[in-house]
Amino acid sequence: MKGLKLKLYHWVHSTGLVADWLYAGAHQLRSRTLRRRNRSAANAGFPVAELSKFHHEPRRVIDLNVGITNICNARCNFCAYPRVVDAKTLQTGVMPLATFKTAVDQFAKNGGHYLDLTPVVGDPLVDPEVFEKVRYATQEAKLGYVGFYTNAILLNHKDNYRRLIDSGIHFVSISTQGTDRELYKKVYGVDKYDQVISGIQNLLEYNRSKGEPVRVVIEFRNAQKPSEIIRSADYQQKIKPYFSEKVRVNFTIDYDNWGGRIEGKDMLGVQKLRVAPEPVNLPCQRLFAYSVRHDGSVRLCACRLLKSDFDDLIVGNLHQTSFTDVIRGERAWNIIEGFFEGKRPEVCRGCTMYKPVTPEWLAQRQLENKEGLSGDFLPRQTT
Ligand code: SF4
Ligand code: SF4
Repeated sequence: MKGLKLKLYHWVHSTGLVADWLYAGAHQLRSRTLRRRNRSAANAGFPVAELSKFHHEPRRVIDLNVGITNICNARCNFCAYPRVVDAKTLQTGVMPLATFKTAVDQFAKNGGHYLDLTPVVGDPLVDPEVFEKVRYATQEAKLGYVGFYTNAILLNHKDNYRRLIDSGIHFVSISTQGTDRELYKKVYGVDKYDQVISGIQNLLEYNRSKGEPVRVVIEFRNAQKPSEIIRSADYQQKIKPYFSEKVRVNFTIDYDNWGGRIEGKDMLGVQKLRVAPEPVNLPCQRLFAYSVRHDGSVRLCACRLLKSDFDDLIVGNLHQTSFTDVIRGERAWNIIEGFFEGKRPEVCRGCTMYKPVTPEWLAQRQLENKEGLSGDFLPRQTT
């Protein structure tokens, strides 16, 4: 984003009433758009044979999530993590460096470009080897775009904000509540507001002092109105002064339901649950956004879990089969094909992140497969 568009973007995020109005309107608009999108995808028909050919043929995979740890130090009200930890259905762990290298090497060899170290749940800064992993991905494997989401709780710990900027990472997305200490505690489930806001400012300041090598987006998972956050002293003094071409903020329009685990009653303040449009018998696009779990398991979908990230979307393991063979395999195809007959893995059944495949989506993936990336590739939207 550049020029006038960027100026307008920053103006919206500096002008409380405009931001309130736009984000509230975006929620209404999104509900209508999702319903229309699903209906028109169902009516348009889909070239199943072409999808089967695309799936089974050797192909370039441009983006991958490697979840280096599924351990988190927060307990967000809008996330499945605290629930699956309390229910003891999630087996947590940290990815060994050797497994990480195997995943990254295979990804790089296969035309990989965009590597996201964000796990389905968990915070990458919990992994004591996170910087070594980033360094390996950027400097050894020479991947073009590497980054992750963090809740920023550990940014100040052992000067992590400096180590992060110096690691060679290309982007960092920060998710946090807003600028109210009490609400932060309620939304993130831990009493860490002061260290988060200080860590964010330190990261922004250090990034600026180094000439802004890293793209930073602060994504407010806000229970406060955007205008309240924008008006606050912490926003005005610790965030807004750093707005630039590389540094942006946004607010959350609405929250997805984690396959039905999060409900309207879980929302706080201005948080709203996304309305689930009627499901249609088409596979979800996100089945082609692969993730690698800390134990080397390959999973279709890097977005959401219901009880565990080791579920019926797991299609193989890098320690037994190569990445290309896993993703082209029959186990993966059976899951994808099942959608055409209304058969979905448990987590996908009521998932509000569902996004049906379309002929245009397939054409774009085929083009990427043939020609690789053109221009400045940015992460695919996950919310
Ligand atoms: S949303 Fe992120 S930070 Fe919050 S509990 Fe879930 S994984 Fe942790
Ligand atoms: S429906 Fe939801 S859980 Fe299933 S692949 Fe799509 S985004 Fe992932």
